[in-house]
Amino acid sequence: MRNLVLAKPSSPSNTEATNEAKSVKPSSTSAANEAKSVYLKEDLPSRLNYFASDRISPIIGLIEESYKVEQKESKRKECGGAHGYDNAFFSMRTIFIGHGPQFPRGKKVPSFENVQIYNLVTSILNIQGASNNGTASFPDSVMPRWSISIGPLHEVMNLHPRKSVRSPFENRVDTVLEYFDLPDREIPVFMTLYFEDPDHQGHQVGPDDPEITDAVSRIDRMIGRLIEGLEKRGVFEDVNIIMVGDHGMVGTCDKKLIFLEDLARWIEIPKDWVQSYSPLLAIRPPAGWSPLDVVTKMNKGLSSGKVDNGQYLKVYLNGGFA
Ligand SMILES: [Zn+2]
Repeated sequence: MRNLVLAKPSSPSNTEATNEAKSVKPSSTSAANEAKSVYLKEDLPSRLNYFASDRISPIIGLIEESYKVEQKESKRKECGGAHGYDNAFFSMRTIFIGHGPQFPRGKKVPSFENVQIYNLVTSILNIQGASNNGTASFPDSVMPRWSISIGPLHEVMNLHPRKSVRSPFENRVDTVLEYFDLPDREIPVFMTLYFEDPDHQGHQVGPDDPEITDAVSRIDRMIGRLIEGLEKRGVFEDVNIIMVGDHGMVGTCDKKLIFLEDLARWIEIPKDWVQSYSPLLAIRPPAGWSPLDVVTKMNKGLSSGKVDNGQYLKVYLNGGFA
C-alpha cells in the first residue's frame, strides 16, 4: 500500500471508546426497575438515521455488542463474528483512505460516519446527488484545498457489486486496470471495486483469528496490484482513490444469546413477525397489533430479570409508527 495516504478515523483511546459506547446505550434508568417503561420514538437515537419508512420496521431492538437474538434455544453452537451493532461501538468502526489529486497528502481527518461518503463522491465527480442523510459541507472538511472538481478525472471506489459478480480478486483489479487502456474518452469517470474479505472470514471465525490477518494481507496485495497497475500506466497520481470498509466486526458466541421465546409470558413474538434477528432486531407485527403495545410488553419482559440476557436488548418504537 505504498504511497497511499492513510487517514485513519481518529482513534480515541480504548477508555474513551468504552465510555462513548456506554453513554449511548439506551438508558436503562427506569427500564431496569420500572416494568412500565416504554421506549418512545424519540428514544431511538436519531444518529442511527432510522426514520419512518416502509423499509424499516416499526419495532427496532438494539442489542449489546457481541450478543445475538434468536427465536428459540437450539443445539446449534456458533462462535464467529458479526457487525451491524450500534455504530457508536468502537468495534463497528472501519477505515477511510483517500488518495489522489483531490486529497491533501498526509492529512488526518476526524472520524466521521460512512453516510458522508456519498456527498464526497458526488462532490469529486461534480454532480448533483440525491437528497441523503449526509451533510453538504462534509466534502470540504476532507479535501479543503480543492473546491472544484478538476478534469476528466477517474475515480476508483470500493463499492458492493451486483451479487452475481464473484470473480477472483485479481480479475476484479485487472478489470479496473483494463479500463485505463481504453481510448481517453472511453475511460469511465467512476469505477468500483469490491472485496468480500475479510468480512467473510470475520463472520466465520471472529475478528481476532489469524485467518483474518491472512485475509487482510491478501487484500493488501490486491491494493498493491491496483497501485502498480496504475503506476505502470502513468496515471496513479491522477486518479482519486477512495478506500472504505463499511463496518467493523465483533466476536459472538453461543453463550451470549437472547431467545424471543423466553418473552412468551409477556408477549408471543411469532417467527413471521421478525424481519431480522441479529444484530439488529426488526419486528413488524401484522395489522391489528399496536406496535406500542408490543414494545411495552417486550421491554417489560426483558427488564423483568427473568429473561436470560434480557438486559442486553432494548426495544424501541421507530418514529412515525406510534
Ligand atoms: Zn458481513
